[in-house]
Amino acid sequence: MLALPASTCAFGAVITMKRKRGQKPLWVRESAANTIARLLELAEQDDDHSKRYVSLARSISKKYNVPIPADKKRFICKKCDSILRVGKTLEVRVSRGFLVYKCKPCGAVRRYKLEKGD
Ligand SMILES: [Zn+2]
Repeated sequence: MLALPASTCAFGAVITMKRKRGQKPLWVRESAANTIARLLELAEQDDDHSKRYVSLARSISKKYNVPIPADKKRFICKKCDSILRVGKTLEVRVSRGFLVYKCKPCGAVRRYKLEKGD
């Protein structure tokens, strides 16, 4: 397969140029990605409204099928849309070869497999 030209949006997520069936045009996805990046930026700065910003970013991500970058996604609670900060709203521990992330406000738990060398 040919290497497709890719565009890099604000947070470095790569969106391929080729448009699949049912997918929104590139400029729409690019604009969605930029909005998501901006909203996540705002969420990190503004503690009072961070949940609203995160929930907007997530709904845009779902509607336009634009992924939230993995490094940011890890620090967003799926259950209550909080921004997770180690020590403040996030509890990290290691258990049976897994990294366990616990959201302090709602108690949701996510596990990530520990790779060798981590
Ligand atoms: Zn939570």
